[in-house]
Amino acid sequence: MFGDGDGTLVVGGGTIVVPNIQLGFERPATALMLHRAGLGGIARDGGRVTIGAGTPLAELAGLPDPVASCVAHIADGEVRRQATVGGNLCAANFEAPRGDLQGVMIALGAHVRSAGKGGERTEPVEDFLAQRAGRLVLDVAYDEAPGAYAYLDRQHTHEYTALAVSAVRGADGIRLAATGAGPHGLRLPSAEAKADDPEAAGRAALADVQLADDAVASAWYREQTLPILVRRALEQLREAA
Ligand SMILES: Cc1cc2nc3c(=O)[nH]c(=O)nc-3n(C[C@H](O)[C@H](O)[C@H](O)COP(=O)(O)OP(=O)(O)OC[C@H]3O[C@@H](n4cnc5c(N)ncnc54)[C@H](O)[C@@H]3O)c2cc1C
Repeated sequence: MFGDGDGTLVVGGGTIVVPNIQLGFERPATALMLHRAGLGGIARDGGRVTIGAGTPLAELAGLPDPVASCVAHIADGEVRRQATVGGNLCAANFEAPRGDLQGVMIALGAHVRSAGKGGERTEPVEDFLAQRAGRLVLDVAYDEAPGAYAYLDRQHTHEYTALAVSAVRGADGIRLAATGAGPHGLRLPSAEAKADDPEAAGRAALADVQLADDAVASAWYREQTLPILVRRALEQLREAA
C-alpha cells in the first residue's frame, strides 16, 4: 500500500501527525495507519536486538542504556504508550527537538530497514536520517553494547529535551551522538576521536553540530551545555565499565 510513498502520509502512533491534521498543517490525500500492520515487537537473537517500527516507546523501557534513559525522558506515560519507534526516527523538529531516539540509535550503530522507491533498503541510521523522505521504516536493529545517556533536565513531563548526548562502547570503539544539536540526530566524530579525554571531547563536539535557537533553548545555551553533556556521557560510560 505504501508503494513509493508518493502522496501518502504514514501514521505511526499519531502523536505528531494527528494534531498536525487537526490543526490543518497536513491535508493528506491518503493516510496509511500502521497500528495493525504487524510492525510491532522487540526480538533478540544473541546480542542482536531488532525493534519493529510500530513498537510503542513504552515497550523499550526495559532495554539497557542509552535506550531506557532516553525513553524515560520522552514526554509522559500517556504519550510513550502511543508514540512509536518509527515515528520517533522520522520525527522532524518543530519549535523543539523531536526524535530523541535518533541520537541513541546512531550511537548504538543501529541500522534501519525501510521500504519505498527501489524496494527495501538497510542502512546506518545516520544515512537514513539524511535521506528519509519517501521511506517507510520497517525496523531498526543493533548489537547490544554498554551505553550512557546525558540530557538537559526539564521541569515538566510535557516539555521536550532541548539537548541530549548518547555514548556507546561498541566493538569498533566509542560512538557519540546528539539530539537537539541539528536538524536531526547527529553523530559526533570529532568528539569520538578524543573520547579518552572527556573534557577535550566535549569541546571537540562543537565542530560536529549545527546549533540553532528554538522554543526550548537558544543556540548559545546549547553551545555552553553540549561540552558538559558529552563529558558526562563519557564519564557515565567509564563508570559503567
Ligand atoms: C506532549 C508531547 C511531548 C513530547 N515530548 C517528546 C520528547 O521529549 N522527545 C521526543 O523525541 N519526542 C517528543 N514528542 C514527539 C513525539 O511524541 C515522539 O517523537 C514520537 O515518538 C512520535 O512517534 P509517533 O508514532 O506518534 O509519530 P507519528 O505522529 O505517527 O509520526 C511522526 C512522523 O513520522 C512519520 N512516520 C511514523 N511512522 C513511520 C514509519 N514507520 N515509517 C516512516 N515514517 C513514519 C509520520 O508520517 C510523521 O511524519 C512529544 C509529543 C508530545 C505530544
